[in-house]
Amino acid sequence: MTSTLIKNAMIALFDRERTFIERGWIFIQNDRIRQIGYDNQNQPEADFVYDLEHHLVMPGFVNIHAHLQQYFRGLYELIGDFYQVNLPLEGYRLDEDMETLGLASAAEFVYGGCTTSLVIYTYPEGFAKAVKKTGNRVYLASDIEEVDLKEMQKGKYSFLPEKGKVAFNRAVHLYEDWEGAAEGRIRTLMCPKATDLVLPETYQKVKEFAKERNLRITTHLAQSVREYQQVMKLYDLSPTEYLANLGILDNQLIAAHCVYTSAQDEMMILDSGASIAQSTFISAPFMRWKDMGIPVGLGTDDMFHDILQMLRSTRQAQQHRSSAVIGIDQMLASDRFTSRLSPYELLEMATIGSAKAIGMDSDIGSLETKKKADLIAVDFNNPLLSPTSDPITSLLLYGNSGNIDYVMVDGKMIKDPSGMINFDLPIALEQAQNRVNLIVDKFFFDFPEQKKRWQKKLSYKEGEA
Ligand SMILES: [Zn+2]
Repeated sequence: MTSTLIKNAMIALFDRERTFIERGWIFIQNDRIRQIGYDNQNQPEADFVYDLEHHLVMPGFVNIHAHLQQYFRGLYELIGDFYQVNLPLEGYRLDEDMETLGLASAAEFVYGGCTTSLVIYTYPEGFAKAVKKTGNRVYLASDIEEVDLKEMQKGKYSFLPEKGKVAFNRAVHLYEDWEGAAEGRIRTLMCPKATDLVLPETYQKVKEFAKERNLRITTHLAQSVREYQQVMKLYDLSPTEYLANLGILDNQLIAAHCVYTSAQDEMMILDSGASIAQSTFISAPFMRWKDMGIPVGLGTDDMFHDILQMLRSTRQAQQHRSSAVIGIDQMLASDRFTSRLSPYELLEMATIGSAKAIGMDSDIGSLETKKKADLIAVDFNNPLLSPTSDPITSLLLYGNSGNIDYVMVDGKMIKDPSGMINFDLPIALEQAQNRVNLIVDKFFFDFPEQKKRWQKKLSYKEGEA
């Protein structure tokens, strides 16, 4: 049995009582927390001791909606276009590239403080192998989608059931090969991609498969006008009503976005027990959903996976939203909307809130005895964060992922101030960069007009090496 002691740290437990310990310790045996202490007395002996003076220790973030699309940074932001750039570019990335690229991705989640991430990707196998090596925890889905994307570009929907079958089988294989792998750190779920991209019979098939194996389902729901209009046209139902009719809207569903939902749709989501993944639609009315009693968690989607940045954007958007909805006078009058969510509540949403939303809160999301030792330690010996009268407010408003010194999952440290512990990150990043360079070169060779567009957007001249 391995034991670890973390001592001399500020500790925010994110438990029901919202306990904050000024100076305390956590004793860990194997993968679980055995004891939490409030002072320097009675500290148990341990095999490994971390003296985390000037650090804030808290549960790791639980990211409940993320994709792996950050390989083409510097391109997508400048010339991104789903049909002209993203889709063909993704086509050059081979399944086997994912082991090289996957390590960079897994490290990105860890650097962002995410000890658990729900990741949706079309070719998740290589990423699963990377996660096994990295040591983080994932809830992994292979997405199922069956529309003819070439036709969709012209505004026409036509379905390709064969494509759907291949994708469904890929998801089945992911479950068979990876469910419970890496000492239980890898779990799987099913992801029919979105209500307008998947046939009703495929949703049914997914539901049967998931039910028999007690798996959860996640899907993009009511994300775009295109989706809303198409589902209305085909079934004369809103996307939410459509999922309810199919029997998919239940307490096993994690619905991402839910931007185009009516009051009636919201009530249906509440009654079903489904949870919502709030993410890049930062101005979505998630505070209303929380008030109603819908479980809401946080995801970074296809942005970079920095939860603190995501929380700050979300907070800002909610303030804009409230000023637009209720007016500046009421904002200044310190109406409930401006005082909410508090920095603590926002961090709570990204920890225990997200864990509840994906049904993993008995194991993760807060620091409590018998729970998994999944935690992060933020360096407060740092002029961006200290001095402060409230470390939680400082962290939320001024902290960034670079301040996260330590990341522990299952009682094992996987990142320390020197970097990733289980593999050589600089080498992995170099390999990923080389791979990306090759892919982009091929793409630009075949699509020279896109290269021109990109160079124009750079606003500077690339010097020849
Ligand atoms: Zn998404």
